[in-house]
Amino acid sequence: MQRAQRVLDNPALDIAIQLANELQKPIAVFFGLHPKYPNGNWRHYAFLMDGLAETAERVAARGAAFVFRPYPDHNLIRFCEEVKPCLVIGDENPMRAPEGWRQSAARDLRIPFYTVDADVIVPTKYFPKEEYAARTIRPKLQKLLPLFFHPCENPKAGYSWPADTEPKSTAPIETSILDSLPVDRSTAPVAGVNGGTAAGLRQLQSFIQQGLSRYDTDRNLPHLAGTSELSSYLHFGQLGPLTIALAVQSAEAPRQAKEAYLEELIVRRELAINFVARNPKYDELAGCHEWAQKTLAASTNDPRDVLYSESQLENAETHDDLWNAAQMEMVKRGRMHGYLRMYWAKKILEWTETPAEAFAIAVRLNDRYELDGRDPNGYTGVAWAIGGKHDRPWAPRRPIFGMIRYMSYDGCKRKFDIQSYIRKVAAL
Ligand SMILES: Cc1cc2nc3c(=O)[nH]c(=O)nc-3n(C[C@H](O)[C@H](O)[C@H](O)COP(=O)(O)OP(=O)(O)OC[C@H]3O[C@@H](n4cnc5c(N)ncnc54)[C@H](O)[C@@H]3O)c2cc1C
Repeated sequence: MQRAQRVLDNPALDIAIQLANELQKPIAVFFGLHPKYPNGNWRHYAFLMDGLAETAERVAARGAAFVFRPYPDHNLIRFCEEVKPCLVIGDENPMRAPEGWRQSAARDLRIPFYTVDADVIVPTKYFPKEEYAARTIRPKLQKLLPLFFHPCENPKAGYSWPADTEPKSTAPIETSILDSLPVDRSTAPVAGVNGGTAAGLRQLQSFIQQGLSRYDTDRNLPHLAGTSELSSYLHFGQLGPLTIALAVQSAEAPRQAKEAYLEELIVRRELAINFVARNPKYDELAGCHEWAQKTLAASTNDPRDVLYSESQLENAETHDDLWNAAQMEMVKRGRMHGYLRMYWAKKILEWTETPAEAFAIAVRLNDRYELDGRDPNGYTGVAWAIGGKHDRPWAPRRPIFGMIRYMSYDGCKRKFDIQSYIRKVAAL
């Protein structure tokens, strides 16, 4: 278990349990914790650990052993040498490093090793090429959804470990374990925010009761709550998209609100995962469309009214009170409102010397502070805002942006109550 850190509606776990039952074998769910996950810091690890003890309990309730092995005991191959499994099932993760770990496990294991895509509703393998835009993946998803958009079986393991053979964790599953690990401590956990499936389900219920029916009209209004705030639970796999989509589909809310939500959760999210899975340059400008790279290159020498360093941006020291508030929301809450993420990244393009530098800074800040950072959605969001990914050219050509879609302070002012949003962030 790596990306899909849950028991509820987890196709990788379901298939592992079904196969173990078929083979009449007991099953162990292995979770190795490495303290140097790319760009992971204390904030992210604390959220992860919040959910893990609950996942362990839920695994036990499904009749399987849960084995937690933090560094230096985190190695899957060594664990396999110890328990000698007949089969290994893993989940999938399209990001470069974790996909590399799976490739190296496939080379080192001498037994069958299968991975199951538990992160999406329609498995990524159905889209073997990089999709151009939402409009190209949408009809394909709509065609395939009936095959996968139904409740998971959540089966129970039927064979227990013979006495004294059950593999054991090497440390208690507690957040305090982080104290003994060389985790990057530069970014503190978010006070009052808890990870885990139960917390995610509570958030889902609260959104369905209070926010869903107005999602189509309120989601781009940052001074209101407006959105589901489920992305960090999705990022850590503590909730799966199927659980959320089924709950939304059966909720009592206007059809257009539900459709707007499912468009983001399924079409936009699975498009982002397709981008990261199929484009090796997903976290740099070079991964964006040719038209976008050309228009940005032609605008690189356009004069900038103002330039900010990465540390001025990080400390929210710009002339723009809305941008500063958005940055502070991310630093303090570990999440920025979705509408402002677009504005935030586009302004970094406007205020730095080159688009490549803007891209790199946006990725670093996003990955460092967002609880849902280091995610396909983040790289795609930055690529959309700065590099026109999945978007189209916008005329007329503008300084710095070229044909990349532009956003302005005045545009935000017309759309929502900026001062009320700023006051909300100041009160955090
Ligand atoms: C510059 C930039 C950076 C971003 N960084 C991240 C990030 O690091 N992690 C992250 O998960 N999302 C990121 N997004 C996408 C989007 O802004 C967030 O997913 C959303 O704001 C999360 O809040 P929510 O759960 O309340 O979303 P809701 O509006 O309630 O949407 C429900 C779910 O749909 C998915 N979703 C919504 N909008 C998008 C989108 N534009 N693209 C893909 N999926 C979407 C998310 O999984 C989200 O949880 C970024 C967008 C931009 C423009």
